[in-house]
Amino acid sequence: MKKTAIIGSNQMQAITLKGVSKSFGGIHAVTDVDLEVDVGESRALIGPNGAGKTTLYNLITGEIPLDKGEIFLFGHDLTRQPVQKRIQLGMGRTYQMSNLFMELTVQENLFLAAWKRNSVSPSLLATLFRPWKRFTEPWGKALKVAQQVGLEEKFDVPCSELSHGEQRQLELGITLAHEPKILLLDEPMAGLSAKERSFMTQLIMSLKKDMTVVIIEHDIDVAFAIADKVSVLHQGSIIAEGSPQEIQANPLVQEIYTLSRNSNG
Ligand code: ATP
Repeated sequence: MKKTAIIGSNQMQAITLKGVSKSFGGIHAVTDVDLEVDVGESRALIGPNGAGKTTLYNLITGEIPLDKGEIFLFGHDLTRQPVQKRIQLGMGRTYQMSNLFMELTVQENLFLAAWKRNSVSPSLLATLFRPWKRFTEPWGKALKVAQQVGLEEKFDVPCSELSHGEQRQLELGITLAHEPKILLLDEPMAGLSAKERSFMTQLIMSLKKDMTVVIIEHDIDVAFAIADKVSVLHQGSIIAEGSPQEIQANPLVQEIYTLSRNSNG
């Protein structure tokens, strides 16, 4: 695996994208994107519906292959590396859709995530193999993560009995159980009540201290509160980048959001 030089000052970059492009048939979902996220930074990726945010995440995590460009994670060239390699290097991602085992408890979901992955998939383990209690280290980690995401009191509760907000907390916990160095959050506030949003915002703020965070979020106030720096994606290209204050004051960004609001009725 090729390693890139440390770019810029002395700061190591968590993510470096160079000229990344992806089309689906005739649709240019992501076009020639350059992106640099420093280690320890928190970055918001915003943009109207269809701007290419999720496609960009899928390219970074390796879930879809790119057409053109290069992707580096902590200096390692991952352009052609599979998802698993990227996870081993410290990449963790949450999804817009729920990814939980609904019939299992909080602790069982977290245990499966905490258990060092091997060649057997967690779903197979969940259905075929239940004598888990003897694996003390993952249980310890499961409890620690449950505390971290505020679910210690729900440790023995089946996932299906959790509120929507608690399920999102658990999804985040499952990603944290892999001990990521960089966390890619995909609309973590989707479907949450005001109270749940506030809890989730505080939770993400607390995680920022220990890891690099990238967040796709439609709630601009939340995105601006969490991020040190914001990148704005529009029609597959990054059209603005800067501090939350700079982005808020950017006339092009204001115009795009006004147009998008009007076209959405
Ligand atoms: P949203 O905020 O609505 O989730 P987004 O910014 O995440 O949008 P993407 O989902 O990345 O945008 O989509 C970018 C463009 O690529 C859109 O035009 C979308 O329809 C198209 N697209 C995404 N995935 C596919 C696919 N698998 N096949 C065809 N077109 C796709």
